[in-house]
Amino acid sequence: MAIADNLKKVRDQLPAGVQLIVVTKTHEPATIMEAYHAGQRLFGENKVQELQAKQGLLPPDIQWHMVGHLQSNKVKYIAPFISLIHSVDSLKLLRVIDREATKNQRVIPCLLQLHIADETTKFGMSFAECCRLLESEAFQNMAHVEIMGVMGMATFTDDQEQVRREFRELREHCRALKQKYFASRDSFREISMGMSDDYRIGVEEGSTMVRIGTAIFGERE
Ligand SMILES: *Cc1c(COP(=O)(O)O)cnc(C)c1O
Repeated sequence: MAIADNLKKVRDQLPAGVQLIVVTKTHEPATIMEAYHAGQRLFGENKVQELQAKQGLLPPDIQWHMVGHLQSNKVKYIAPFISLIHSVDSLKLLRVIDREATKNQRVIPCLLQLHIADETTKFGMSFAECCRLLESEAFQNMAHVEIMGVMGMATFTDDQEQVRREFRELREHCRALKQKYFASRDSFREISMGMSDDYRIGVEEGSTMVRIGTAIFGERE
């Protein structure tokens, strides 16, 4: 069972306290069930439609994380069940998440996505934008979202030192936000950073959550 073996290999490299989110995008339910039977319960998707479909088909004790860019008009489809949204990149999106969470009578845990990569194509806010969001009156009035920490994606590059610098920057932003806005909130502590190619660096730089697909399921078609 290659998937179970791969899972074990990855888990063995993660220190206690680092959560593994297995990213299942493009993979069939039967493939995902191999990871499930190997004990995995935290899974992530980057598209709402796929996430919603798989949530309906797979066991109810799976905790689903949204890791990809989220459009406001699609929040309603995942609001009833989503365990963590990693990709909050605007106040507008967070307002919609708060509204949909209210309708579902729940609190939705979220991470603020920060832009740390060179590429302009990756989503995420600047540190200043995060501050503006957290200081806004709209945010102060939200009772149905909880900000648990930050997420970021490093530049797609072979330059490991660059990846390390970007992860350090994210950790530093997390520390600064914690000090400024969440000093008394124990729940603000997560740093989601690291994918198949760079999770070891992520962990060395203080990641608390890694999001891994390829290293477990192999290359996507
Ligand atoms: C696909 C994806 C991952 C996992 O990438 P791998 O390289 O397959 O491990 C992690 N995070 C996000 C946001 C993704 O879209």
